[in-house]
Amino acid sequence: VADEEADCVLLSNYRYNNLSRLCEKYGLSPIATGKSVDYCFAVSKNETGLYSILTKVTGIIPSSKVSVALSSYMQENSHTSVVGFIKEHLALVMTVVAAVLLMILLMLCRILWVQKKAKIDEALIATTEIDSLTGLYCKNFLFEYADRMRNKYKGIPMDAIVLDIDRFHSVNILNGTEISNQILQLIGEGIRSIFSEEDFIAGRVDADRFCIYCWHRNDYQKILTLIQNKLSERFTNVNIRLRMGVMPEQITMDVVKMYDSAHVACDMSKGQNNSLLTVFDSSVRDNLWLKNHMLNDLHRAVKNKEFEIYYQPQYDIQSNPPRLRGAEALVRWNHPVQGVVMPGNFIPLFEEKGVIGEVDKCVWKMTARQIAAWKNMYGITVPVSVNLSQAGIFDPKLEGTLDELMKANKLERTALKLEITESAYIQNSEQVIPIIERLRNKGYIIELDDFGTDYSSLSTLSSMPIDVLKLDRSFIMKMHDNDSSKRMIKMVMDIAKDMNIPVIAEGVEDKIELKTLKEMGCNIVQGYYFSRPIPAEEFEKLLNKEMEKHIGHAQNKEINRAGK
Ligand code: C2E
Ligand code: CA
Ligand code: CA
Repeated sequence: VADEEADCVLLSNYRYNNLSRLCEKYGLSPIATGKSVDYCFAVSKNETGLYSILTKVTGIIPSSKVSVALSSYMQENSHTSVVGFIKEHLALVMTVVAAVLLMILLMLCRILWVQKKAKIDEALIATTEIDSLTGLYCKNFLFEYADRMRNKYKGIPMDAIVLDIDRFHSVNILNGTEISNQILQLIGEGIRSIFSEEDFIAGRVDADRFCIYCWHRNDYQKILTLIQNKLSERFTNVNIRLRMGVMPEQITMDVVKMYDSAHVACDMSKGQNNSLLTVFDSSVRDNLWLKNHMLNDLHRAVKNKEFEIYYQPQYDIQSNPPRLRGAEALVRWNHPVQGVVMPGNFIPLFEEKGVIGEVDKCVWKMTARQIAAWKNMYGITVPVSVNLSQAGIFDPKLEGTLDELMKANKLERTALKLEITESAYIQNSEQVIPIIERLRNKGYIIELDDFGTDYSSLSTLSSMPIDVLKLDRSFIMKMHDNDSSKRMIKMVMDIAKDMNIPVIAEGVEDKIELKTLKEMGCNIVQGYYFSRPIPAEEFEKLLNKEMEKHIGHAQNKEINRAGK
């Protein structure tokens, strides 16, 4: 008799819990409670009057028919048995049980999945955290752990050290990946053997760059020497040179900033004459500041003609007395504030920043003009070598620029010889060789500069398309040390002879070197023994002397031919 409009429900033979469900549905209040009853009543919750009447009516019904006590708003239905309940709500119970089982199943699956993922993550972290080659940390983890270490040892000064292999690229190319990997492994071992476990952490952050974060110490040179010696002992035939940069004793500076400074210091530990260890201090900071200024000053310097060319004479030592054969053009910067700046202080920076082309072109232009001027003055062509930086080789306008210069100054292409460093050759030989071949075919003379600094092997020498070989000063300096260095130079001379190319020895400073080189068959010498690089006017004095010594057309022709 339930009806949506009903204010009162009368049920017979109905269970109380059915009644209470109905009541809830229609917003009624149950009056009867209990188990199965013959009659049940319910009234609207708002109908308090009707509720009272019905309570009275139930009093009229014979007590034998009323099996439960009347109560107002009572919810007791717990007398229903579990089995009865299940029977009555089988579908519902089954649904609930199924849902619970499903949830348990899902939870089990999730636990298993989480466990599996944790295992995968662990394996992944192990592989990314540790560099498999050296056993040191990888970049990101190193900085993370260094940061933690800094927090752990708050107040204790820590150093950031960067270590790398000078010109690793060349080491890699010339010795192969396997040897290079062994070198890197040995550096890793070296680092671990120096520090005690608690005091440091270290990682490999680039192919050949190692970072160490450690308690402050002062024996940086000792660390560098120890690892360097390990390498030299194990790889006797490989020329490896380590460089180190240090940002010492910082308490407040964050780790990444410390490493930035250590990297800068490491990059400054370059070159044969510079130290291979640089500790970041105020002079490094000044240097950095200066470099930034120099970069800004470059355009002005070109415009205001602040670059000046010095000429270092080259002498043919096989003739007696030695004869002037030509020169190398070396740039100096007459800086309005800093005075004369040597190329070592700005060329590497400009090379790194990719603006060296501007300087080089300026030097070629001034040199070509000077050769033309001397040609007018003396009637001979003095061949002068100019430096061509690595980036310049790949300039698509290179040939055009050079041709234009030669044309504008009415010079033979042999007059301006091009020096290309050994490292430029080795590092990009596949791309460089065709460019060089084209220049040579056009008549330009190519000189291999700094031979002996870049670990090149004698076997690669014979495959290089060059016209002249320039032996680096470091080679000449070693000549005094032992016989094996002398033998090495002799071997280079012999290969050059086989290739039919002349050898210029750079940096010859004394008579003994000169004598030895002459005996070995070296053709030309450039070095302080004869002269430092000098301004054009001073070079003219040498030319005048030379002209006095060798007056005559035949000799003039000789100088000319040396250029070819
Ligand atoms: P480099 O091309 O190897 O030039 C030879 C350097 O050795 C010159 O240094 C020269 O002064 C020095 N030298 C020559 N003989 C001796 C000697 O007997 N003893 C000693 N101790 N040194 C000697 P400089 O002029 O300071 O030039 C340094 C480097 O700067 C050059 O090395 C070259 O790589 C670069 N450079 C110079 N001018 C230019 C340029 O116009 N363009 C480019 N790209 N690089 C240049
Ligand atoms: Ca040179
Ligand atoms: Ca050189």
